[in-house]
Amino acid sequence: MPILSGQMMQMPLSISSLLRHAARHAGDVEVVSRRVEGDLHRTTYVEVERRARQVAQALARLGCALGERVGTLAWNGHRHLELFYGISGSGRVCHTINPRLHAEQIAWIINHAQDRVLCFDLTFLPLVEQLAPQIPSVAHWVLMTDRGHMPASSSLESLLCYEELLAAEDGHWAWPEFDENTASGLCYTSGTTGMPKGVLYSHRSTVLHALGQVSVDAMGIGSRDVVLPVTPMFHVNAWGVPFAAPMVGAKLVFPGPRLDGASLHELMESERVTFTAGVPTVWLGLITHMKKLGLSFSTLRRTVIGGAACPPAMMRTLEDDFGLEVIHAWGMTETSPLGTLAHLKAKHASLDAEARRLLQQKQGKVIYGVDLTIVDANDQPLPWDGRTAGQLLVRGHWVVDRYLGAAKNGSDSPHVDVAGERWFPTGDVATIDADGYMQITDRSKDVIKSGGEWISSIVLENIAMAHPAVHEAAAIACHHPKWDERPLLIVVCKPGAEPSAQELLRFFDGKVAAWQVPDDVVFVDELPHTATGKLLKMALRDTYRDHRLPGV
Ligand code: ADP
Repeated sequence: MPILSGQMMQMPLSISSLLRHAARHAGDVEVVSRRVEGDLHRTTYVEVERRARQVAQALARLGCALGERVGTLAWNGHRHLELFYGISGSGRVCHTINPRLHAEQIAWIINHAQDRVLCFDLTFLPLVEQLAPQIPSVAHWVLMTDRGHMPASSSLESLLCYEELLAAEDGHWAWPEFDENTASGLCYTSGTTGMPKGVLYSHRSTVLHALGQVSVDAMGIGSRDVVLPVTPMFHVNAWGVPFAAPMVGAKLVFPGPRLDGASLHELMESERVTFTAGVPTVWLGLITHMKKLGLSFSTLRRTVIGGAACPPAMMRTLEDDFGLEVIHAWGMTETSPLGTLAHLKAKHASLDAEARRLLQQKQGKVIYGVDLTIVDANDQPLPWDGRTAGQLLVRGHWVVDRYLGAAKNGSDSPHVDVAGERWFPTGDVATIDADGYMQITDRSKDVIKSGGEWISSIVLENIAMAHPAVHEAAAIACHHPKWDERPLLIVVCKPGAEPSAQELLRFFDGKVAAWQVPDDVVFVDELPHTATGKLLKMALRDTYRDHRLPGV
């Protein structure tokens, strides 16, 4: 007997359907952008959808074929949003490029992706002029501005003006339908642990991710929200917010290039933002600014913090001093990025406040669409007891199968076979408890291996960050003749604070086992960060690997 087919409509999942939905059902909802040109621009979903159609027409006129890559070097703003939809919605691939990477790395990425068109904000014109001779695949250069802001001259041959390109199109063009597995977006990992690798998203993975993302156990974004993505659109699509917000008709507020505490706070207040998402370093700046001036939030209620471990001290400050609900989340470029979020279950209501907090400080539990497990060095599953740490594996509808250019099942296609199932190895080390709450103990490359025992750099950093004199801290492995590696703490103090190394190390007493306490502290003015605002531990290890520890 053949299996009976369902008799429901077949509608391929498509990125354009998200914006069409917003234009039809939330057409007057605003999209507000702080632009590079210095103004605060206001538009609506109806307008964004019309202009995205014009983008699609303009790309066709430029001869950009379906499936070809269109690169963007741009801040969060309405033009970038129009490109997201105009490029992907018409069957091309939107390749968001991280402008904070080194120029050579950007050139490498553009060549690897074979971008045909490059669209960029005014900020990045000098960078693009510098890169141009090294990126021969690019046939068209589009400056994302209006005629009035175009430069008088440029070394780029036939530099195009974005607003003129759009103005030449009438918008009479219908969004095409195609297979939902068609490639839609491309994002390279930021290369914290090696050369960047391309993750090619599909329409299907992107729409399913957005559906999961808006649910209450994830970001819980709805039509009453005003959403400000601090996470850049060039890094994992601003964590999918530009797809999720139109899906529910939420107002979008884009901060443009100004991500300092004062600018963010002012924009959040003036646009009545209710929800935001960002990495911990962004919050460091915002908290410092608000504490200095005694400011508060009048509308902001919730924030998702992820991309790096959110220090418990930061979570406490945001909740207790600023009244926010903080949702700690974990994800990767390879997971679109949402993997887990630390929401509580009904049964946790009876726990005391401290126990609830400890759970919320973990990276959290998966939402439907993602699954995870931990395995030992032989890929054997480990117990979910909240204590045993192992390599974290994930699989799901929006998890990468293989990197751009890698052959399926080839040696360059990372995956692990567990009981006949294909899993992606995250490179993270984690525990999972009986309720499914995952806690990252470290990245495999950041773990400090002292005399064969593992010390979590995240645990040490979280303790240091709870000290009142510490602004930011990194724990790294330092070479030791006897133990192989010992932890070294590198600290940036708060303005005016001058704690001694002994005082900081005493602060670890009773919080970790004596052998896990760092051997020494180095004080620095600032710590290196990756292009996405995470601690660049690789650089710190290079500098301090041979730091002379006391007693050695
Ligand atoms: P890259 O790997 O180049 O830094 P990603 O942004 O994809 O770029 O980084 C994903 C990694 O970030 C994860 O594998 C994990 O190590 C780290 N990470 C993300 N969220 C968290 C979190 N909440 N806690 C700890 N680490 C996190």
